[in-house]
Amino acid sequence: MKASQQDRQAVADEARIIEDWHAASAESVLGTLQSAPGGLAEDDALARLQRHGYNRLPEAPRPGVFARFLAQFHNILIYVLLACAGVTALLQHWVDTIVILAVVFANAMIGFIQEGKAESAMDAIRRILAPQASVYRDGQRRSIAADGLVPGDVVFVEAGDKVPADLRLLQAHGLSAQEAILTGESVPVSKRSDAVAGMPPLGDRTSMAFAGTLVTAGQGRGVVVATGAHTELGRISGMLAQVEELTTPLVRQMQGFARWLTFLILALSVVLLAYGYFVVGQDFAELFMAVVSLAVSAIPEGLPAVLSITLALGAQAMARRNAIVRRLPAIETIGSVSVICTDKTGTLTRNEMMVVSVLGARGLYAVEGTGYEPAGAVRLDTAQVEPGEHAVLDELARAFALCNDATLQQHDDAWTVAGDPMEGALLACAAKLGTNAHDMRTEWTRTDAIPFDARHAYMATLNHDHEHRAFILVKGAPERILAMCMHQRAADGGDEPVAPSHWQREIDAVAAQGQRVLAFAQRAVEPGQTVLEHSDLARLTLLGMVGMIDPPRVEATQAVAECRTAGIRVKMITGDHAKTAAAIGRQVGLVNANTVLTGSDLDALGDAALAAAVNDCDVFARTSPTHKLRLVTALQAQGKTVAMTGDGVNDAPALKRADIGIAMGRKGSEAAREASDLVLADDNFASIVAAVREGRTVYNNIRKVISWMLPTNAGEALIISLALMAGFALPVIPIQILWINLVTEATLGLALAFEPADAATMRQAPRPRHAAILSGALVWHIALVSLLFLGFTYGVYLYAIGRGYPLELARTLALNTIVVLELFHLFFIRNIDSPRLGWHALKATPAVWLTTGILVVAQLAVTYVPALQAVFGTAAVPMADALLVVGTGVLLFAIVETEKQLRLRLRSRHA
Ligand code: ADP
Ligand code: MG
Repeated sequence: MKASQQDRQAVADEARIIEDWHAASAESVLGTLQSAPGGLAEDDALARLQRHGYNRLPEAPRPGVFARFLAQFHNILIYVLLACAGVTALLQHWVDTIVILAVVFANAMIGFIQEGKAESAMDAIRRILAPQASVYRDGQRRSIAADGLVPGDVVFVEAGDKVPADLRLLQAHGLSAQEAILTGESVPVSKRSDAVAGMPPLGDRTSMAFAGTLVTAGQGRGVVVATGAHTELGRISGMLAQVEELTTPLVRQMQGFARWLTFLILALSVVLLAYGYFVVGQDFAELFMAVVSLAVSAIPEGLPAVLSITLALGAQAMARRNAIVRRLPAIETIGSVSVICTDKTGTLTRNEMMVVSVLGARGLYAVEGTGYEPAGAVRLDTAQVEPGEHAVLDELARAFALCNDATLQQHDDAWTVAGDPMEGALLACAAKLGTNAHDMRTEWTRTDAIPFDARHAYMATLNHDHEHRAFILVKGAPERILAMCMHQRAADGGDEPVAPSHWQREIDAVAAQGQRVLAFAQRAVEPGQTVLEHSDLARLTLLGMVGMIDPPRVEATQAVAECRTAGIRVKMITGDHAKTAAAIGRQVGLVNANTVLTGSDLDALGDAALAAAVNDCDVFARTSPTHKLRLVTALQAQGKTVAMTGDGVNDAPALKRADIGIAMGRKGSEAAREASDLVLADDNFASIVAAVREGRTVYNNIRKVISWMLPTNAGEALIISLALMAGFALPVIPIQILWINLVTEATLGLALAFEPADAATMRQAPRPRHAAILSGALVWHIALVSLLFLGFTYGVYLYAIGRGYPLELARTLALNTIVVLELFHLFFIRNIDSPRLGWHALKATPAVWLTTGILVVAQLAVTYVPALQAVFGTAAVPMADALLVVGTGVLLFAIVETEKQLRLRLRSRHA
C-alpha cells in the first residue's frame, strides 16, 4: 500500500497526469498528495512551489520588439508620406526626402514608445486584478495570490469565486459550479465530496472543481490536485487569452475620420495636380511639391498618438483614485453616467460594524465598546448586566459564535476581522457577553451549513457537541427568521408562542435609527442528523435580535453632494431593511430618501409602472440581485446611462447589463469582477465619483485636442489650396508644414492630454451618451479659426512680400505666424468651456509651460540657427516683424475669446 502510494507520488511528480482523482476517496487523495484536511505547512508549500512552478497558464508569446516597431509603419498616413518621400527623391529634392523619412521614423518611434507605455499601464492594472485564493496554511485560513497554490494545498471556495486550481473536493455545502468554459454546459453542476466511479466526462466528475470554472452557489473545501498548465483548463487552452485591444469607440471613430480625411485629401490633391498641370500648365516638379504640402498639411498626423496618450493618462489617473478600468472604452462611458446605483453596506457605509443593541425577551440591552475590541459593558435600563446573569443572552452569544464564519484577530492593539465585518461584530459582542468563540467552536463542531446567500438573506448551521446534543442555528433578516419560528424564548428561559407584531415594532424602532437588524433562532434536533436542508428551517425558537451600526463614510456623503451638482442621481440598492436603508439614505444626503421601494414592491409592479416609479425613488431595500437587473433595464429605458455596483455572483447579469458595471475589489467576488468594467480597489462610493470626474476630464481633453488640432490642419490646407488655385508662390513649403504638423502639433497637443479636471467639470449635466464629439458649436469653431489662420497668415505673408522681403523671409514669417497662432489658440482651448476669462486661464499646468518653452526654443532655432535655416529654407526675422507675428496671436485670442463669450452668454440667456 505504502509502496504503491509512493509510486503514485512519483508519477504525480514526473508527469502529473493522474486522471482519476475523482474516483479516489478524499482520504486517499490527501494521502497521495501528502497533505491533510488542515492544509500544508507554509515551508512545505514553498518547497512544492519550487518543484511545481507557479499556478499560471503559460502566456501567449507577444510580438517581439522589432515586430512591434514595424507595425507602427502599417498605417495609411505613413504610406502616403513614404510615397511622397519616393517622389521627392525622384525629383532629387534630397533634403525633403530626408526630412520626410526622419519624420516617418520619429513618428513610428513615438508610437512605439507610447504603445509600450500604454501596454505596461494595462499590465499593471491586470496585476492588481489578479485573483486571490483562500487557502489553509499552517492550519490557518489565508488569502494569497492564486498563482502561489501548489498541489496538496487545501482551498476554500464559495459562491462567486473562480476555482483557482483543479480541486478534489473534501467538503461541499450546497456547492455548484458553472463549467461552461470546459464542458460548454451553462447549467451549473452540483458538487459533492463523494468519489465518482469510472471515467465519466468532466461534467459528471462531481467530486472535482476545475480551475477557471465559477462557483455559483454554496461553499466547499478541496485539495489542489493540479495547477497551471496541468489543470484541465491548461490542457485544453494551453495559453492565456490574448491581450485586449487598446482602443475605444471614440478613438475608433477618430481613426475612421482620419482615414476618410486622408482619402479625401488624396483625391483633392490628384485633382489639383491634374488641374495645375493640364489646365494651367505649371511645372510638374514644383506643382507636385505643392500638392505634397497640401496632403501633409491637411492630415492631422499627431492626432492618433495624442488621443491614445490621453486615454492612457485617464486610466492611470483613475487607478490612482482606486478605480481600475478593466476595459478602456469604459473611460469614455463613465464620463457620461447619469445615474449611479450603489450598494449600501461597505460602499456608502464604512462596513465597520458594531452591535449596539440586543433585543431579548427581557427588553433592549445596550452594548458599549469601540470597534471590534471584545470589551465593553452590556446594560439593561442603565443597569450593567454581568455575563451569565441572563440565560437568554448566553444562548444568543452561542448562536453569535457558532452561526458565524469570521474570526477576530489582534495585531498590536488593533482588532480586525478575517471574514464578514458583520460577523466580526457578532464575535465581539459574544465576547462582551462572556462567550469565547474559539472555545465554543471546539465544543460544538459544525457538521453541516447552509451558507449565506443574498437571495434568501439567512445562513444556518448544524452543530453537535460531544454529549450527543445537536442544534440547528439560524441567523438572518428578521422577517425571514420570524417566518420560520413557532416559539420565542421567554424571560424565564422557557418557550412561548412567537409574537410577530411585538417584534415588528421593535425591528422598526431599531431600524429607523439606521441600525442593521439581524435575528437569531435555533432548534434542537436528533443527534443522528448530520445533513442540513432548507426544509429543516421550520418550527424554530426565536432567541432574539441584534441591532448594529455601520456609520456612513464621510467621503461618501461628500461624493453624493458632488453628484448632485454634476446632475447625477444616486440610488441606493440594498438587501437591508427598508427603515435602515432610508435612515442611511438620509444620512448620506440622497435626493429622495423618503420613498422606499422594497423588493416585493418591485415584484408587484409591471414594467411600465416600474419605469414610472424608478425615477423618483432613490432607496431600494430588501432587494435581491435579480431586482438589480430590472432596475438597470428600467433606468436605461428612460434613456439614462447607468452605473451599477455589485459584489456577489448573482450581481453579474446586472453588472453586464449596466453601461458601467462596477465591482468591489475587496469584498467582491471574482464573478462580479469579470462582469464589470470598473473595479474599486477600496470599495468606496467616493472612488466612483472620482472616476466619473476623470472620465469627464478625459472626454473634455479629447474634445480639446480635436478642437485645437483640426483648425490648424484645415487652416494650413486652406492656405496651400488658395496659393495653388491663384497660382501664387507657396507661403509655406512642404518641409515647414511637416515641421508644424509633426513637431509643434505633437508637442503642444500633448500638453492638452495633461489638462486636469477643472472646477466646471462636475458642475455640468452629464453629456448624452451618444453625443457626437463634433458638435455644431465645434464645427463652427473649427471653421472660424481655420479662416482666421488663413487670414492672418496671408496678411503677414503679403505684408512681407509688399515690403519687398525675400521669399525665404516672407515664408519664415508665415511659418512663425502659424506656430504663434497655434500657441495662442491652445491657451484659448484650455478654457473653451468657461464663460469668463480669469487668471486661471493663464495659470497653466506645468505640462503647458514645458511644451510652450520647448516650442519657443525650437522655433527660435529653426528661425535663427544657420544650419537649420539651410534645411528648412528659413531666414532670420527682424525684431519688429517678430513682434508683429506675436501680435497676430494676441489678436486671434481676443477674437475667438470675445466670440465665445458672446455666444455662451447668448445661449445662457436663451436657456
Ligand atoms: P447589503 O445590501 O446591505 O449588503 P445583503 O444583501 O448583503 O445586504 O444582506 C441582506 C440581508 O441579509 C441583511 O440585511 C441581513 O439581514 C442578512 N444578512 C447579511 N449577511 C448575512 C450573513 N452573513 N448571515 C446571515 N444573514 C445575513
Ligand atoms: Mg452585503
